Amino acid sequence: MTNPSQDALAQAQAAYAELKARGLKLNLQRGQPADADFDLSNPMLSALGEGDTHFDGIDLRNYPGGIGGLPSARALFGHYLDLKPENVLVWNNSSLELQGLVLGFALLHGVRGSQNSEQGGGWVHQKPKMIVTVPGYDRHFLLLQTMGFELLTVDMQDDGPDVDAVEKLAANDPSVKGILFVPTYSNPGGETISEEKARKLAGLKAAAPDFTIFADDAYRAHHLFEERDTPVNFVTLCRDAGHPDRAFVFASTSKITFAGAGLGFVGSSEDNIAWLGKYLNAQSIGPNKVEQARHVKFLQSYEGGLEGLMRDHAALIAPKFQAVYDALSAELGEGGGGYATWRTPRGGYFISLDTVDPVADRVVQLADEAGISLTPAGATYPGGKDPHNANIRLAPTRPPLQEVQVAMRGVATCVKLAAEEYRAGR
Ligand code: PLP
Repeated sequence: MTNPSQDALAQAQAAYAELKARGLKLNLQRGQPADADFDLSNPMLSALGEGDTHFDGIDLRNYPGGIGGLPSARALFGHYLDLKPENVLVWNNSSLELQGLVLGFALLHGVRGSQNSEQGGGWVHQKPKMIVTVPGYDRHFLLLQTMGFELLTVDMQDDGPDVDAVEKLAANDPSVKGILFVPTYSNPGGETISEEKARKLAGLKAAAPDFTIFADDAYRAHHLFEERDTPVNFVTLCRDAGHPDRAFVFASTSKITFAGAGLGFVGSSEDNIAWLGKYLNAQSIGPNKVEQARHVKFLQSYEGGLEGLMRDHAALIAPKFQAVYDALSAELGEGGGGYATWRTPRGGYFISLDTVDPVADRVVQLADEAGISLTPAGATYPGGKDPHNANIRLAPTRPPLQEVQVAMRGVATCVKLAAEEYRAGR
């Protein structure tokens, strides 16, 4: 006679064999928009005609125009970040690049707050440490580690980073230079920082006089459902807390218009924008004004403006998120049936799945062998090492809805088998 756990294992193995026999080829790994999302912005490709040589009274074809970007682009993305145009610098096609530029200048020269530091000057001389949230965005880890920062991790909680843990890390160590994280609909969990926590971070007592909040607000307007999270405004919160230069807020149109062919921009205090402009001006005469004009013209003419475009994206993406929730519930049971838990964010681009047993790597392997490509297990932790071997980032935006449905049922099958194998082997 078999025991119940062997039955469960045999059932899971049979379900997996069926899955494998289907010869699927699906990908839930790429945090990219779908072609249907891109298609919404196709009119941007012809938004400028031959006659559109000037914009905001500036000749788009020539160098002059300023380091901060076209005035109307600064106004548009200032509105997006809930800031005045003078608090925004609009750069080229990538917010990650902008983050790298700001961090690079901080390493070489320090930020404005560093002027009062006894150590003074560039962070590179101070064995700098940066706090990141886990699970988090692998490219943040890659960027910071490539630039020489030591990473310190704090947990991402339902209402944002564990701010008490941030305080403990930053209170006595002046080499802890700040925190880099996603404040709205985070990657991968979709968490949004609460106003209360944001206020605490803005007023946090840090040993480093130049402790800085690097907020990568990539999904600030990427609401999916009627109920929305409310994004915070770190620039004004820091100003009100007496740290006017503490925050840099980054965003881009990569998930609004075209990925990697949009516009990256940053919001901060006017002094910080001048600080950044001074260094950028040494390496560039200015950003690509043609791209900026094209974006402004297109986004202003879209029905409902940028918000109208985001609503149209939501109509395409929300059903895919819902399909993930539905498939997991249908296969594993409401709440995950003791196999896994998952977050149900109201926006953003990702869903975080956590296995109850330490089997994330096995789930990804099983899925891969069944033709379903998932983000590598561990990718949401620095060094690719998830101490719990539990977290899997799901990216449902790129495949068509029907593929998301099929793939997620398959993922659930893999979760069950990995768990039953683990339990049988214990
Ligand atoms: N920041 C976060 C949190 C992201 O998830 C991504 C892309 O997935 C990016 C930045 C990339 O932005 P960009 O294309 O503006 O460099």
